[in-house]
Amino acid sequence: MSEKNNNAVIKSSLERVIFEARIKYNSSPEIQLSGLSCNLSKGGLYLRTQLSLEADDTLSLSFSLPGQEPISCDARVAWTNFAKNKRKPDYATGVGLQFLNLDAEDLAKLEKFIDAYDQEKRMNVVCAWCGKFLGLRKGPSGRTSHGVCEQCRESLAV
Ligand SMILES: [Zn+2]
Repeated sequence: MSEKNNNAVIKSSLERVIFEARIKYNSSPEIQLSGLSCNLSKGGLYLRTQLSLEADDTLSLSFSLPGQEPISCDARVAWTNFAKNKRKPDYATGVGLQFLNLDAEDLAKLEKFIDAYDQEKRMNVVCAWCGKFLGLRKGPSGRTSHGVCEQCRESLAV
């Protein structure tokens, strides 16, 4: 039962985009660490880390969107994804972070970045039967997804 509730919290309605960048972070001012992110939304990002963090720990973050000044903020560990409790096995070991105090300007930058990504980076959809191009769909750029075109659907229905 609690598992179900946890999942509801993890699944936010925020759109995530693939975002692999170097994230500088620390849990105490003396120790500066860095790791790679996997994805990003307006509300947070996924950080690859082996650091034994727990839910509700807070980190200071600094990262840059392509060609932009670094964004700094604090973030809360929303969920963890370590070997002992891997909630998302397809993700690298790490934590889901929730931004706590992004300033309005940085939030606007994030929104712009995510919206632009959303428009440009889509995966191709092709008919699984005849290979006809069916358009673009939200998803990782360069990937291909499959659908069924109208002609094939008709012929299959017969
Ligand atoms: Zn087809």
